[in-house]
Amino acid sequence: MHELSIAQALVQQVSEALEGSVPCRVTWVRLRIGAFSGVATEALAFCFEVVTRDTLLEGSTLEIESIPVAIRCERCQREVELPEAPPLRCPICDTPSAAIVRGKELEVESIEVEDQKIPRMEQH
Ligand SMILES: [Zn+2]
Repeated sequence: MHELSIAQALVQQVSEALEGSVPCRVTWVRLRIGAFSGVATEALAFCFEVVTRDTLLEGSTLEIESIPVAIRCERCQREVELPEAPPLRCPICDTPSAAIVRGKELEVESIEVEDQKIPRMEQH
C-alpha cells in the first residue's frame, strides 16, 4: 500500500527533524501534495492516523494542501495551470505537453510542535 509507506516516511522525517530537541509533541503537520503525485489523500490521512500512534506525532492534525498540475507550454512559452490532469494539454493554445513543472510535489510544508512552529522542511 503506497500511502502507508508514505505515511511511515513522513513520520520518520518529522521524528528525525525533531531529534535532539527537547521532548515535545507535534500538534500539526502541513503537507503539500501535487495533484499529479498519485497520492490518494484520503488514504494517506487514514494511514497517517495509524502510523502516528505511539510516536511524537500522535494526535496531531494532518493538513493537506493540494497543488494543481502546471505544465510548460512550448508554443505559449509559459507555465499554465491545469484545472484537471490528464490530458496534459495547454488550455490556452491546446498544444499537448509533457513538461510538468508543478503537481508532483510531496513535501512537508511545516509542522507545529506544541507552541513553536518549525517552517519549511523540504523532502527530496
Ligand atoms: Zn500554449
